[in-house]
Amino acid sequence: MIAKSMVDYVKGSSVIRAMFEEGKRLAKEYGPENVYDFSLGNPSVAPPAAVKKAITDIIENEDETYVHGYMANAGYEDVRAKIADSLNKKHGTSFNENNILMTVGAAGGLNVILKTLLDPGDEVITFSPYFGEYKNYVANYSGVLIEVPPTDDFLPEAESFSKAFSEKTKAVIINNPNNPTGVVYPEETIKEIARVMYEKEKEYDKAIYLIADEPYRELVYDGAKVCYLTKYYKDTIVGYSYSKSLSLPGERIGYLVMPDEIDDFENVAAAACVANRILGFVNAPSLIQRVVAECVDAEVDVEAYNKNRELLYTSLTEMGYECIKPQGAFYLFVKAFDGDDKAFTAKAKEYNLLVVPGATFNGPGYVRIAYCVDNDMIKRALPAFKKLAEEYGK
Ligand code: PLP
Repeated sequence: MIAKSMVDYVKGSSVIRAMFEEGKRLAKEYGPENVYDFSLGNPSVAPPAAVKKAITDIIENEDETYVHGYMANAGYEDVRAKIADSLNKKHGTSFNENNILMTVGAAGGLNVILKTLLDPGDEVITFSPYFGEYKNYVANYSGVLIEVPPTDDFLPEAESFSKAFSEKTKAVIINNPNNPTGVVYPEETIKEIARVMYEKEKEYDKAIYLIADEPYRELVYDGAKVCYLTKYYKDTIVGYSYSKSLSLPGERIGYLVMPDEIDDFENVAAAACVANRILGFVNAPSLIQRVVAECVDAEVDVEAYNKNRELLYTSLTEMGYECIKPQGAFYLFVKAFDGDDKAFTAKAKEYNLLVVPGATFNGPGYVRIAYCVDNDMIKRALPAFKKLAEEYGK
């Protein structure tokens, strides 16, 4: 018999994953070319050539027992040093290997830092709509996720943010560029978040950590700038991932940045290492750690996503769909025509269009369309989107 705590998780098991499975089923029934799966944030762009080259070079030239062996729980020291140097060059920071902990993707990093920080009942604030796993990750450590309601433009707003704090607040998670909205927070928004958090640290006389979840940092359009949050708020911990930036989601590789300046740095860094071990990750996968260290300046073809974004945004808005033009990540967050995202998602499925209801992200009334797909699939899907709009009288 499974744990009682798991029963509800299994029942409500990821809607996104369920959609993905449904897509495979429909593909068998109607043929893959007639199914338009916009459900999963699985990169459609190949990893940069530098990744393949690094894999081959490392396999051929480095000592096998070293490449495939255990190392410090934080990861290989030279890998962490290279990543710290690269961040310093890009952002004018002054990190070293002790500030970096290699993790099993952003998901692993978030779990490590939440285990490190949370006592039972501690509260973690985030802004709706948000990546639905935050709620599960916080609950993993008996924390409570506090949801700030969304604004019309999906930008955090000081007043409602301020109201979400209590003496139990331990951390705030922000995700920029954002999944599911594609919004990139401008510098004024970041400054407002920092201002409110400094006020709250003073009011409650304790550290409140800002966890910056940044798997989409590199995926931005129209020259949008993604602020590096450690420069705006002292108690910031950054969670990064190569899942999207190098198209390596299955490899499970990312890192946490814990700057010297954060409150209780020594203990936080030591505890995060232990958390990485006792959660059973032990260390991030060894070979791919060495690979990403060789690829710190490599980039995926962001223009391919940009092309998809332009095509889908322009076509859908012409058909009467409403959404904010995203400046980052690879998602459109589109209003469900009659405000019922679940009914809209079901109706879309009748046209073999797979999208994810906004409720999954605590953003009901919207659906998420992931455009990390083949450009041709978007072209083939447009008539189906048109028919769907027409069915709603558009
Ligand atoms: N955070 C956000 C906002 C995400 O969208 C995702 C994955 O889609 C993750 C974290 C987890 O990413 P990873 O594959 O690096 O664990």
